[in-house]
Amino acid sequence: MENLKPLPEPSPQRTTRFNDTMKKNIFGLSPTELADTFSPLNLPPFRAKQVAKWLYQKGATDFAAMTDLSKELRSVLADNFVINAAEVVRELHSADGATSKFLLRLSADAAVETVLMRHDYGNSLCVSTQVGCAMGCRFCASALNGFARNLTAAEILAQVIFAHRLLQAAKQKLDTIVVMGMGEPLMNYDNVLKFMRTLHEAYALNFSYRGITLSTSGIVPNIYRLAKENIPVNLAISLHAPTDELRSEIMPVNRKFPVAEVVAAGKYYGDTTKRRVTYEYILLGGINDSERDADKLAKLLKGQLAGVNLIPFNGVNEREFVAPAAAKCEAFLKTLTDKHGIAATVRREMGADVNAACGQLRRQQIIP
Ligand code: SAH
Repeated sequence: MENLKPLPEPSPQRTTRFNDTMKKNIFGLSPTELADTFSPLNLPPFRAKQVAKWLYQKGATDFAAMTDLSKELRSVLADNFVINAAEVVRELHSADGATSKFLLRLSADAAVETVLMRHDYGNSLCVSTQVGCAMGCRFCASALNGFARNLTAAEILAQVIFAHRLLQAAKQKLDTIVVMGMGEPLMNYDNVLKFMRTLHEAYALNFSYRGITLSTSGIVPNIYRLAKENIPVNLAISLHAPTDELRSEIMPVNRKFPVAEVVAAGKYYGDTTKRRVTYEYILLGGINDSERDADKLAKLLKGQLAGVNLIPFNGVNEREFVAPAAAKCEAFLKTLTDKHGIAATVRREMGADVNAACGQLRRQQIIP
């Protein structure tokens, strides 16, 4: 932990704009919605487009930055509206500089974790979709403080625009987005969909759907729904165990949506979208890491357009699990690939020194 550089505690003034409930927040509005909102001000429609550009493409966090608007207009806007862009509460950077974890304030009652990872293949951002999580997975830190509320589409978008601005300042760009932070995205379906669609809009980042991966604990009806949306996002499914008995023990959601149904939904998603589905499988030492488990997992996925992403358990203080030894992970991988011909990789651990496992940073600093 010595290498980490936590920011100083935020001063109370830094969050006042989130408490300014007298003014309407315009962050997250489309140009059309902005034009409607601005209508009492009698502005020409192109002003709404200009403002949208500032909000999403240039990441402006206040009206003063919008330098192609007159000073007068900027001050009228500031008198009437507020921009609820993300605000850093705390940040931690891994010693190797590859992972940055941010606790971001998104509104007066919501602060979530967002993680920026620099891979050799590009910059990837992990966004949260809920404050806390209701799924109760036994190995996950996000579940520890329960569920507070869904994030709005604008609040999810704010995390991306924050990272976009940060990278832009360093003459870099955001290449991929993983919807794998705190929360279960398919339990916040409408807002998550709206977020992905907005991100794809030309007035926002024109972000490719193929650059987005959504991870779910297996909310079966919404996997089918997502498959029919006609947006080619990548789907990752947190399977984590090959049998109902074990999966129900570590993921209570399995009692509602058991393994066979989850895998059938994953197959449907792959068949419909022609995108390869990724099954995530946390390796928990002595629990789900035997060769027999790998055999069963391979049997489940045989013939599917699917790959397996093995994730050695990322230590969470309050959880009793341990990661298997590296050799054990390697053996599990080999069973899948060499014995059964299943495409599989072991996820490279990133940011262990910044508590990058879901929910850990927020937990250290319990704030709404
Ligand atoms: N709710 C979604 C997305 C969030 S979690 C889902 O369940 O898929 C993203 C991934 O990290 C999931 O596969 C989750 O099971 C896994 N994860 C959670 N806690 C972890 C831990 N301590 N170590 C390793 N992976 C973990």
